[in-house]
This record gives sequence, C-alpha cells and structure tokens, in this order.
Amino acid sequence: MADEKVTAYIKKCLDAGKMAEAIDTSKITGAPLSKEEINVYIQKYLENGWMQKAIDGAKAAGIELSKDVLSGYVNKYLENEKIYSAVDAARIIGVPLPREKIAVIGKECLRKGKITSALEAYKIIKEKPPEEELIICGNICFKNGLLADGLEAYRLANKTPPEDELVICGNACFNIGHVTPGLDAYKLANKNPSKEMLRICGEACLLEQRNDDARKAFVAAQKVEEMICSRTIEVREISLSELKKSNIDISGKCFGQKFCWDCENSTDIKERYFEVSRCPQTKEDEEELDKIMKLQHEIVNFYVELDVLGNGRGLINSSICGNCGSKNVVLSSGDEMGYMEIKAGKK
Ligand SMILES: [Zn+2]
Repeated sequence: MADEKVTAYIKKCLDAGKMAEAIDTSKITGAPLSKEEINVYIQKYLENGWMQKAIDGAKAAGIELSKDVLSGYVNKYLENEKIYSAVDAARIIGVPLPREKIAVIGKECLRKGKITSALEAYKIIKEKPPEEELIICGNICFKNGLLADGLEAYRLANKTPPEDELVICGNACFNIGHVTPGLDAYKLANKNPSKEMLRICGEACLLEQRNDDARKAFVAAQKVEEMICSRTIEVREISLSELKKSNIDISGKCFGQKFCWDCENSTDIKERYFEVSRCPQTKEDEEELDKIMKLQHEIVNFYVELDVLGNGRGLINSSICGNCGSKNVVLSSGDEMGYMEIKAGKK
C-alpha cells in the first residue's frame, strides 16, 4: 500500500495532461481525486493552450465544457499571442479564426520583436509581413540581443542588416553574457568589439558559472588587446566617393563646415581623406603618424577621427584653403566636435 507513490503518480498524470489516466488510477487504487481538483486542472490545461487535453479530460471526468467557454479561450490565446494554440484550438472546436484580428496581432508581434509568433500569424492569413515592419522587428531583436531572430527578420525583408544595428546587437549580447552571438554580430558588422565590452561579457558569464563562455570572452578580449598593441600604423588615401560608399556619415564629426583662419574663406576648401590602420594612442604613435603623413603625403596639418572606420581604424582629414593656400583651416564649430587635433608642423 504505497499511497504516497500513487498520489504522486496521479499528480504526475494530471500535470502532464493525462486526466483519464489519473481518474482511472484513482478509481482502481481508491486514492482520492476530488472534482474540484479535476476542475482546477482542466482550467490549467485551457490556460496553457491545451485545448484537446482539456476536452478529453472533461469528458473523462464527466464535466461539460460549453462551446462558448472554449471559443472564449481561442480569443484569449490570440490576445496573448499564442498563435499556435489559437489555431489548434479553433481547429479542434471547429470555429473560424477572425482574420482581421490575426493581422493586427501579427503586426503587434513584429513591433515587439516576436518574429516567430508574427510569422505564424501572417502564415495563417496567407500574407507576407511588410518589409518596413520586418526591419522594425529586426532592429528590436538586435536591441534585445537576439541575433538569429534579427537576422531572420532582415532576411525576410531582403535587406542586409546595417553595421550599426549589428554592433548594437553584439553589445546587447555581451551585456547578457551571450559571447558567441555577440562575436558573430561583430563579425557580420566587420568590426571588432572593444576589450572592455568582452570583459563585461566574460564577467556576466562567470556570474552564471558558464566558465567555457567566460573563457571565450576573456580570450577574445586578450586578442583585441594584442592586436591593438602590435599593429604598425599604415595610412592610405581614400577618395570621397569611396568614403561615401562606406556608410560613414561624413556630414558630422570632423567633416563639418570648415573655414580658413587666414582669409576667412569657407566655400573653397580642398580636402583629402586617409584611412589610418590604427589610431595613435601614445606620443610615439602620434609622432610616427606625423612622420608618415609628412613623408608619404606631404601633409603637416590634419585631423584624426578616431575609430570611425571600424576595427580600430581612424579617418584622417586634411584641409587646405583653395583661396589663399593656407593650411590653417579649422572646423567652424570648433571644440565641440569630438576630434583630436594632431599638432604636427606647428613648431
Ligand atoms: Zn585662406
């Protein structure tokens, strides 16, 4: 007479939605199973979206479940964005699904970044999710660190995810200790995460005792550090058209309106651009960059916009006044801009 075992078994059946088996066991063994308990479980099945289990269980217990109650749950599933449960339940009880409502829910799901539910909804109404909504959805997924979902949304929209959004996603992943999708996101953006970001990720992994992931993050941080220290500085001239193609907003930053300090001309400024393989971090770096610019390009006055080209690469801008030939050309907006001036040639 292992009563406890029987009771535990009945509970196990009930939890798994096997109402008939629970009732049979109770009858055979004499273990108690009250009508209230059965009712509570049937409600639970309905709440869970287990329409068939609820109907079967009610039938086994001799309880009446009206069609009104059941179709009420179909609506409830829809409102809770349990699309799959709603479709299943509607099929079981033989009621049509309200098409307009599903369309609205599909859109709402996209707006919440719930791509899977959204696609289920659109599939039911046999429509394609609108491109712009997919992109909104993808960006929300990225913001939440859901790389795969975000990529799927962009794929369906036939668009390539922008670098910026991928970096947002990578950082979101790192913040919650998801090292692999974080690294993948940065790789897709063709950028390198900062060592600080990777260390934050490593710490987050450690907190959850995911030691392998933590190690992966710290190793990546170490690699970034080594790469920054070991690379020599290389400078390459880059045309304005190439720059425009690279998705970098050159309207702001150090590439704003300029004027000549000597003749106050601001309309005819000749500008050249260079890509620098890594941004100077030390006095020695600055001197090396000055030397390269002077020897290779005969330029002594220039600005470096740090890190704008990704992978630690910076952008150099050199401006000469087209009117008087002065190299004393400065940004109109002056110090507010986040640029670094290299005081080369101003000896
Ligand atoms: Zn001038």
